[in-house]
Amino acid sequence: MSQPHPTYRRCPQCGSTIPYQAVQCAGCGTVLHYATPTRQPNYFWSDLAKGLGCAALIAVIGVTFVLIVGGVALRNYQTGNQQGARRAARARALNLLQVGMSEKQVRDTVGEPDSTQVFQGRGFTQTYWYYETDRNHWQVVFEFGRVTSINAY
Ligand SMILES: [Zn+2]
Repeated sequence: MSQPHPTYRRCPQCGSTIPYQAVQCAGCGTVLHYATPTRQPNYFWSDLAKGLGCAALIAVIGVTFVLIVGGVALRNYQTGNQQGARRAARARALNLLQVGMSEKQVRDTVGEPDSTQVFQGRGFTQTYWYYETDRNHWQVVFEFGRVTSINAY
């Protein structure tokens, strides 16, 4: 980093090797200008600036990382909450179903079923609508377009 400070130099008159800061040549007696020691470049501030720049970069990377991870976690949390809220709302709505409701009334109350099944019997057709909640499965049975039973299991 810092250049080695020279210890000796040559006399401009006789070429003798003399101490770098000698005022007079020991060989020929020439009075020399006092050699100004070469100014040591001050590395303190440049090193400090480098250090601060590095620290700032690390801080920016760290903050960015925290923001990304935090944002993802928050989004997952919100999505989970929304799903939970939807399931809870659906569970409440399922409790409002009543025997005798039409398919439209059921659809208006709890929305579209997750799956359906049709049973063809002798002289009748049963349609099963299935709803999933976080706690249980609901089965809504229709005959001739009206709810005949509601089962949670
Ligand atoms: Zn000399």
